[in-house]
Amino acid sequence: MAKKKNSPDECSFCGRDNDQVERLISGPPGTYICNECVDVCSSLLHSNDRDGADEETQGAVPDLLKDLPSPSQIKAHLDEYIIGQERTKRIISVAVYNHYKRLSNNYKNSGIELEKSNILLLGPTGCGKTAIARCLAKLLNVPFAIGDATTITEAGYVGEDVENLLLRLIQSADFEIAQAEMGILYIDEIDKIGRSGGNVSITRDVSGEGVQQSLLKLIEGTVSNVPPAGGRKHPEQKYLQINTQNILFICGGAFSGMGEIVRRRLGDGVVGFTLDGEETEASLNENDESWLLAQVRPEDLIEFGLIPEFVGRLPVVTTLDELNEDALINILTQPANALVKQYQVLFDMDGIQLDFTQDALIAIAARAMERKTGARALRSIMEEVMLDIMFDLPDHSNKGIVSCTITEDVVLGTGKPVLSNKELSSKATSSAKTKKTPPRKSATKSKRA
Ligand code: ADP
Repeated sequence: MAKKKNSPDECSFCGRDNDQVERLISGPPGTYICNECVDVCSSLLHSNDRDGADEETQGAVPDLLKDLPSPSQIKAHLDEYIIGQERTKRIISVAVYNHYKRLSNNYKNSGIELEKSNILLLGPTGCGKTAIARCLAKLLNVPFAIGDATTITEAGYVGEDVENLLLRLIQSADFEIAQAEMGILYIDEIDKIGRSGGNVSITRDVSGEGVQQSLLKLIEGTVSNVPPAGGRKHPEQKYLQINTQNILFICGGAFSGMGEIVRRRLGDGVVGFTLDGEETEASLNENDESWLLAQVRPEDLIEFGLIPEFVGRLPVVTTLDELNEDALINILTQPANALVKQYQVLFDMDGIQLDFTQDALIAIAARAMERKTGARALRSIMEEVMLDIMFDLPDHSNKGIVSCTITEDVVLGTGKPVLSNKELSSKATSSAKTKKTPPRKSATKSKRA
């Protein structure tokens, strides 16, 4: 049956009707455009603007180069936000500095080709991989986007095309392609697209390798056509063209099982070197996953399932340590945007000084350790601990309260916070449980972050 053309309730561009779109805007009689086509047109206009304005928008490049922080400045900035991970912070600071230096005219005139310093971060979940990448982008004031390698599929399969990763970066640059071309793209879960051998099905292996091949092109530098509205490519669509040559790709993954691969390699390597220092070190540390991960070499990544070309395009490889309880306590209190500081600011706005005892911090960190998701668990645990308190404190009945101390009992759910008001600042006005507990050393010494 022939489709009715340009009926009053159809978009004249995509043909969808009123029920399929949020809004239809009417034009000349019988002509309509839907909100989604308006968005696509707007993206296209941005890309066209850019075609004619290349020289202007490239002004952003010299700005960054003029103010490019030195490796030690980059590291100092990372130190403000990222606890521990010292070696990785140093390695990344140098890599990022070198990466952006490549864009300078001095280099372009040198006639020598400097390779891109794309970075591979190995480390357990919640240890700071994404946080480091985000922190770098903020310091350098470049667009930043996060993608997940597991959502990408080879062209032709159901799922996301790699170009969608670039679209996110372009969106983060407000469709300024020249800015996006200098951005940072963090690709998470890169270990999940390994073409793992043995017990995994052939189809899965092939698709893992296919995804790596598609990512490879982006990472090594190509001019990519990105559909402005996301989704799959369509032959009639107009694309946003972006050159990935100068985009810094940071890939991250937990690479669980990598320790075993390294252990096997080291095991073979030490045969014949009886009792030399290396063997002693290997055997002393062979059960330490972090230590093993730090020994990773390109051949281990290939053994894990990354294709050699892909490994070759990620020349900077560094590992992050699993966070222990002390690190989690520091993460709660020390970074510039530490969770404890954030809650303190919130309470301060109500005129209340918020404190956490050291035991409370230890209890929060211990609970986070149980969840095995690194520092990721800290926020939800803090929310759970603070919810009732934040619900009650702003009440009129609590007017006059000037301080609130979170103790271990609060974290364990066996007590209420210690509150004090103006008149009786030393008296605990909480309706704490009546059980009399002997004063604990650290409970009296509250820690202000
Ligand atoms: P992943 O390693 O899985 O990418 P994230 O970087 O996303 O982990 O970390 C999850 C949360 O924990 C973020 O809010 C981040 O700020 C915090 N976090 C993780 N590791 C650290 C660290 N070493 N220092 C400070 N904060 C951290």
